Amino acid sequence: MNHQCPECRSTEFAVRSEAEQFKRKGQEFWVEVDYSVCQHCGYEVIFPDQIKRNDCRLRDAWRKMDGLLTGQEILDLRNQLNLTQQDAAKIFGGGINAFSKYERGEVIQSVAMDKLMRIALEFPLAFDALKRRDVGTSKLPSHQDFC
Ligand SMILES: [Zn+2]
Repeated sequence: MNHQCPECRSTEFAVRSEAEQFKRKGQEFWVEVDYSVCQHCGYEVIFPDQIKRNDCRLRDAWRKMDGLLTGQEILDLRNQLNLTQQDAAKIFGGGINAFSKYERGEVIQSVAMDKLMRIALEFPLAFDALKRRDVGTSKLPSHQDFC
C-alpha cells in the first residue's frame, strides 16, 4: 500500500513493531503493535491496515485471558475436524463469514460457540449429530432483516 506522510508527503515508510502494555479487568498484558516511521522526517503513524492487525492481536490476547480459543487454535481445531470455513459455519452456525472472522481475530466467538467447537472435537458422536442437523442457514433471514 502506498501511504503518504502527512508531514512531508514522502511515501517511504519503515514498518516497526513494539510491545505495548495494555490493561484489562485489572490485569496487565503485552501485545506486539505495528507502526510505520517516515524515512524522510521520522513521523510515526499507525495506518488503518496496521490498526486492524493490532486490534486482531489485542482480541487474541483477550481471548487467551478469558480462556477462549485463539484464532490459531480455532484454525487448528477446524483443520482437525477436516472442515472448510464454510462447512464450519454451516455446522456450528454464526453466519457465513464467522470462521474467517474468528480466525483472523476480527470477531470474538461467543462462549457458547467456543464450547460447541471444543465438544465437537472431543466427542465424535456429538460432532456427527451436529453434522446431521443441517438447519439450512441460507434460508434463515440475515441479521440485517431483523434490524
Ligand atoms: Zn515524513
